[in-house]
Amino acid sequence: MIPYGKHIIDEDDISEVVKVLRGDWLTTGPIVTDFENGVAKYIGVKEAVAVSSGTAALHAAMHALEIKPGDEVIVSPLTFAASANCVVYMGATPVFADVNADTLLIDPESVIQKITQKTRAIIAVDYAGQTCDYKALKSICEAHNLKLVGDCCHSIGAKDEDGNTAGSLADISVLSFHPVKHITTGEGGMALTDDPELAKRMRSFRSHGINIDASARLEKCTWVYEMQELGYNYRITDIQCALGLSQLKKLDNFLEIRRKYAAKYRFLFLNHYEITPLRIKKGVQHAFHLYVVKVPAHKRKAAFEEMRNQGFGVNVHYIPVHYHPYYMNNFKTGTGLCPVAEEAYEGLMTLPLHPGMTERQVDSCAKALDTILKACS
Ligand SMILES: *Cc1c(COP(=O)(O)O)cnc(C)c1O
Repeated sequence: MIPYGKHIIDEDDISEVVKVLRGDWLTTGPIVTDFENGVAKYIGVKEAVAVSSGTAALHAAMHALEIKPGDEVIVSPLTFAASANCVVYMGATPVFADVNADTLLIDPESVIQKITQKTRAIIAVDYAGQTCDYKALKSICEAHNLKLVGDCCHSIGAKDEDGNTAGSLADISVLSFHPVKHITTGEGGMALTDDPELAKRMRSFRSHGINIDASARLEKCTWVYEMQELGYNYRITDIQCALGLSQLKKLDNFLEIRRKYAAKYRFLFLNHYEITPLRIKKGVQHAFHLYVVKVPAHKRKAAFEEMRNQGFGVNVHYIPVHYHPYYMNNFKTGTGLCPVAEEAYEGLMTLPLHPGMTERQVDSCAKALDTILKACS
């Protein structure tokens, strides 16, 4: 089976990890800082806080922005559940705004309609790997005194129309280093910001709300620390960050291959009457975490199953978050809340796209989907 996404680990990655295993610091050590600095420099932000997962980074962002019970945070429904769950962790309410039908990115018009007296923030998701309309979202935030979070778990390496990097366009942006993402640490995530105060709050949050970490205590020759607020253990290890640092060196190469394969799919589906790739906005650089197409809704299930039978690990991203029983039971969500996302969902299919596959496999996957759809009634 060709999976829809998969990591590549080579001997350099392995030897970097082994070096850490032979050293003094397995966690909260210098390699965590090196990885943070490396990603901050790559994206062009002042502060980066590495944590144990993308989900932890989203949670830390909500904490730093002081989201509280009774608050509302506007989120896209076409995303992984974690983008909305982080709001629930704070006792606040996620409010789902609809998406643009062609890009599946959060629709600023719909965001405006969902703003109430209780709205505090917007979480924009760079779905599939292209940037949301941050300009429009920022001006909405300014007009309504809201904070903006970018869920950039799909978009490391992407750029917007003006050449600005994904991850630098919101008050806080979040990355994931899960193995299906562009670069991996096994599990891991990072929160990016230009605001030192927000970064400080997130650093404290990842380690129990304690104001001074173990290496700093060692340096200052003191046992004293204060727990000033309630935090968690969301730390990431130096072992993981060694892998991340090594992977970061390969990111541009990974992106290049992803872009080449995406262009190949696009070419093969050009003017296809049943397979519609998502629209790529003019002048942007797409990071292609996912290659998503729309197929006729009535054929999707049969085509999905037949693709899987033939060894193509297609997937569906995503079941709208507001369709999950947890949200229906606790937030009274359901069909009709975001009609554009709901209609799109019925025809969505993610095709395999990762740097470990071959161009021939891209070719055979595209041809298989064409043949299978023609055979479906
Ligand atoms: C992967 C992902 C997350 C969660 O990241 P983890 O590292 O798995 O916790 C959140 N949002 C989106 C859009 C993702 O793709």
